[in-house]
Amino acid sequence: MFRERLITKLWVTVALGAVLTTSCVPDTQPDAGSLDAVYANPSEHLELLSLGRDQTLGLLLDRVLSANDQAALLVAFREYQSPRRMPAGTELVFHYLRDDQWLRSLDVVVNADETVRLTRNDLGWHSELVRTPIYVDTLLASGKIETVLWSAVVNNEHLGGVPFEDRNSLIDELDQVFQWQVDFSRQIRVGDTYRFAFEREVRPDGSMRSGRLLSAELVNSGTPYHAIWFDSNKDGEGSYFDLEGNSVRRAFLLKPLAYRRISSRYSNSRFHPILNTWRAHRGVDYAADAGAEIMATSDGVVTHRAWKGSFGNTVEIQHPNGFVTRYAHLSSFRSGVQLGSRVKQSEIIGYVGMTGQATGNHLHYEMMKRNGEHMDPLAVDLPAGDPVPSDDQVRWDEDLITRVDLLESIPGAGPVIGLGSLQSQDDKQGGAQ
Ligand SMILES: [Zn+2]
Repeated sequence: MFRERLITKLWVTVALGAVLTTSCVPDTQPDAGSLDAVYANPSEHLELLSLGRDQTLGLLLDRVLSANDQAALLVAFREYQSPRRMPAGTELVFHYLRDDQWLRSLDVVVNADETVRLTRNDLGWHSELVRTPIYVDTLLASGKIETVLWSAVVNNEHLGGVPFEDRNSLIDELDQVFQWQVDFSRQIRVGDTYRFAFEREVRPDGSMRSGRLLSAELVNSGTPYHAIWFDSNKDGEGSYFDLEGNSVRRAFLLKPLAYRRISSRYSNSRFHPILNTWRAHRGVDYAADAGAEIMATSDGVVTHRAWKGSFGNTVEIQHPNGFVTRYAHLSSFRSGVQLGSRVKQSEIIGYVGMTGQATGNHLHYEMMKRNGEHMDPLAVDLPAGDPVPSDDQVRWDEDLITRVDLLESIPGAGPVIGLGSLQSQDDKQGGAQ
């Protein structure tokens, strides 16, 4: 039974309040056996250095290698990376044999996942690429919004073991999964709750190599939204569906900026005091840092890409379903996006600025019908994306059970979904309107 296998896989469980971390270390660890201790002077000692500003690898090698030796080492190193492309801060581990003068090997950490190991041999120097080992675990977390979503996740004390940057990546993941259902910058309310199961690959230092939300729940103003990952071909190209197997995708993204790029100045009205509701000026203003990437909210054709009076640099896109979107005050356009270009949903079209009549860096976003009538983007809900294919129904049912089980196992805020209640989900959502 699929369900039992999963539970076994996630057996090693560390409970941290509302967050559980389950580990599954690949069972490839050899049985080392045991030997009686042998005492000897250590044959090797290590020196850890990091490359300073304006320092080169050659400069650090000058102390320990002759010019010929150095040249041979650099030849071996170039098999994997150019010594000129080593940024300040690059970590190096010098392994010395016997005394400080005799370098036996050198490790150069070229990125978080790869180290070039240089070893002396009879012919000179040999290099190999060593990959940082990883393990896979599943983070289970829940929380309640006290102010904004960002601080609820980043300051979630139960995510203390997750590096700050990775907690930010988690927010990006949630934003991407729910970008068609909830505008995190405009719609999140105090008291909203979330919970999610996030599978990740982790390095020995605790940082994340990659990760994916397996299942997530957001209760926004009393309405529950769910996103369940389903990869029917097991090729990594899956997508998210709600509990009924409908795609979470919609014809329009609710907002043209990633949530984390939007500054909270907008939501407390200190920014752009005259034009701060869409009714007042028929658009939405998102304060953001200059240069933040702007996405097309739906597939379409670029019908304007130029200066437009008080709007400054402006892009307009005509969409097949009769809608037009407008993006104004851009600092610059994306070079590949021209008048007449076809763009895809989520494609970058330009960058936030304050050209035209603008008192600060922000994106002015409008949505219109072809007849010019303005719409609040939040009021447009056009489904897109196919539901789970009927051939995949059996596998979907299995995955749905395990992924909903993961959510249900998370203590804390939020309603308990319960597979038994799946049938009545429609009624519940209807009742919350
Ligand atoms: Zn505006």
